[in-house]
Amino acid sequence: MNIYDLNQQDNMEAKVHPNDEMYLFFTTHPLTKDAPLQAYFDSGDSMKSSLLGIFDKIGFRMEGANSFFEFACGYGRFTRHLVKMISPQKITVSDVYREAVDFQKEMFGVKGFYSEFDPADVAIPERYDIIFVASLFSHLPLKTWRPWLKKLYESLSDNGVLIFSTHGKSCMANPSDMSDAGFLYCHMSESKTHSFEDYATTYVTSEFVHKAVTEETGQPVLLEMPKCLWSYQDVYVVRKPKTDELITNDESCIFCKIIAGEIPAYKVYEDDDVLAFLDITPVNSGHTLVIPKKHYPNLLELPEEMACKIVSIIKKITPAILAGVVAKDFNLGLNNGKLSGQVVDHLHWHIMPRFEGDGYDLWHGKSYGEGQAEEVLRKIKENFN
Ligand code: AMP
Ligand code: ZN
Repeated sequence: MNIYDLNQQDNMEAKVHPNDEMYLFFTTHPLTKDAPLQAYFDSGDSMKSSLLGIFDKIGFRMEGANSFFEFACGYGRFTRHLVKMISPQKITVSDVYREAVDFQKEMFGVKGFYSEFDPADVAIPERYDIIFVASLFSHLPLKTWRPWLKKLYESLSDNGVLIFSTHGKSCMANPSDMSDAGFLYCHMSESKTHSFEDYATTYVTSEFVHKAVTEETGQPVLLEMPKCLWSYQDVYVVRKPKTDELITNDESCIFCKIIAGEIPAYKVYEDDDVLAFLDITPVNSGHTLVIPKKHYPNLLELPEEMACKIVSIIKKITPAILAGVVAKDFNLGLNNGKLSGQVVDHLHWHIMPRFEGDGYDLWHGKSYGEGQAEEVLRKIKENFN
């Protein structure tokens, strides 16, 4: 009989680790101390029901998942129920408690790796169809809250879902204590080992979570379920689109084709996220378009971080463009939507050099003569630091 078979039976008492903080919590809580084991199992079982309810709502089938990552797994309060639903070979667990990870690997036959408090210190080994994070964002300080959100989102497979829980305002004794930013970190926790610098009790508003999700993942919150977990933690779901949903490489977007190298462009600047190239019907010589490599239709859809990055690139390349065409001034243009004059539905900034007496005629649409675009580009590039 292997561990998986063993786990099918209800003989799970022996599998509770003596250092399991969640179990120890139930041994001391006035409402559960008489039957802590039952409370411990019920609590994991109710996580299972909540998760199945969420999948139901988003039309996701657990059986369709090839990989499940349970992050901040502890000593397996939930894992012991999860292994009854999907094969342990598809499950990966991780926690800062190394002993807990070792215990789960041995006890349930799941894969596991050690975590750290700082996401920068952790390499997540695979991509997962489901990432489930119960009761971690309800404990993280501000310095790691968003970085963990970003890191976990990045560890999703295409079409994968990240599900995490938080303490909302309704969990607060005094909701009026909430900060304007919608984030409150209180120095209290059930953990006897983690320092308050890394782990305590965190309350967040729904607005805070939505903003963080949009800015860190570029995606909207797919589903928000207030008080879904244990009837008090709010749950949020974020889905990572398929790659071909992110970058449309079809005929509908000419700039995506430029990014994909399907049609040529005079590239002024390029990095992993941003491309700048000469406009083919320039307002003036040196007219450059700056675009994110991901297809966003307009500025309002663009994640904050990318907006900052693009503006800083514009600041960096504009002096070279101006020097290249010997102009002093420039317009920075950004059309958002058809009525504003946006023709190409892929967000783009126009950097338009201006010359003395050029008539300030924004869209007169000149064209480059033979070899002129190459020459302009060469001169711009000469002026890069
Ligand atoms: P907008 O009106 O703000 O959408 O601007 C679209 C700009 O894209 C116009 O200035 C066009 O000249 C420019 N454009 C369209 N196709 C290309 C292309 N293949 N290469 C460079 N610029 C282009
Ligand atoms: Zn596009």
